[in-house]
Amino acid sequence: MTPRAWALLTLGGLVVALLVAVALLVPWSRPPAPRADQLAALRDLPAEQVTRGRAFHGALRPAAWSALAVGLVVALLLGLTPLGGRLVELVGRPFGGHWIAQAVLGGLAVVFLADLLTLPFAAWRRTVLVRYGLSTQGWGGWAVDLLKSYAVSAVIGALVLLGFYTVVRLAPRWWWAFGAAGAAALVVVLSFVLPVLVEPVFNRFTPMEPGPLRSELTAMAARDGVPVRDVLVADASRRTSAVNAYVSGLGPTRRVVVYDTLLREAEPAEVTSVVAHELGHAKDRDVWTGTVLGALGAAAAVVALYLIGSWTPLLRLAGVDSIAQPRAFPLLIALVTVAGLLATPVQALVSRRIEARADAHALALTGDPATFEAMQRRLAGVNLADPDPPRWERLWSATHPSTVERMAAARAYARESGR
Ligand SMILES: [Zn+2]
Repeated sequence: MTPRAWALLTLGGLVVALLVAVALLVPWSRPPAPRADQLAALRDLPAEQVTRGRAFHGALRPAAWSALAVGLVVALLLGLTPLGGRLVELVGRPFGGHWIAQAVLGGLAVVFLADLLTLPFAAWRRTVLVRYGLSTQGWGGWAVDLLKSYAVSAVIGALVLLGFYTVVRLAPRWWWAFGAAGAAALVVVLSFVLPVLVEPVFNRFTPMEPGPLRSELTAMAARDGVPVRDVLVADASRRTSAVNAYVSGLGPTRRVVVYDTLLREAEPAEVTSVVAHELGHAKDRDVWTGTVLGALGAAAAVVALYLIGSWTPLLRLAGVDSIAQPRAFPLLIALVTVAGLLATPVQALVSRRIEARADAHALALTGDPATFEAMQRRLAGVNLADPDPPRWERLWSATHPSTVERMAAARAYARESGR
């Protein structure tokens, strides 16, 4: 069998494994949230809050769609014409065209060019956030955050590029197999190691002061069978007025992180409700689910890229002989960008189902649908959510059920449990 035949066979196996994992790990049966309850919940929200949320999202939309369109056009322009290959060559030239320079510096240049061209839209987005009072950061802080995230991506990107093109050189016929394994391993590393490494780059964490709330959160986690080592407060107010909480780490390193903005804005019972939702993620091992799906998807994508990348008309467009040379990196990025767009609605659907399950967990753990609903109202108000966004937008990219869906789920739970 040729490497190509093996690749086809491997791709088939990975796709089957992915479909089985999606069928088994994703909670497809969602807790009820009847549309009638949703409409009633929408009527119960203050009209001013609904108008403001809709206006905010209406103002964000042009920047978001423009960034998406420009990102796609740039990727296609660099990848499906010889322009991208020339950029890689140009960056490698001062180093005598050495493959490492082309692979690492050329690759980073392609990625950063795309970032740079969408930068105006990120700035536009920020002006909207500031206008609606959601961003508390000055331009300086915003720029520093941007540079930090560029630095983090540059370090990871350089390692990935170097690793990938080293493997390609060592195993020119079988790189896709090592690439697939490497991509899967990278997903695992990024989802477990990265949060721990990257969180401190952006925020400072301090243990929550001893008191009734801390004791309640620790006790609830223990009652839920998800013991946590610590309850930390993140200084999120440095950049945002949005509220949030999450659970990170595994086993003995597991901790609850609460935004300082949440503590300032919400009643203690509401904080408990948010943390109960986060414990649901920990208990159902949602990070594992995401990691398994992501790892299988990434491995399948690498093998598919190898197969698509041997299609001569495509190589001719990019002006390269093989998808495996550094000069073809822009073509890889173009294919990955298109694949990412196609995957967006699927990832959003899976995420919405997982979030709905965590909501159901929070309702069952606290047995307090009234506070859950109050928290959803508050979250929507503080984060300026559109409580009932347009259907196409929900299907395209919503990672969480809408505010009215979450309120309706609480109402349905209250009816069922007689609370
Ligand atoms: Zn969640």
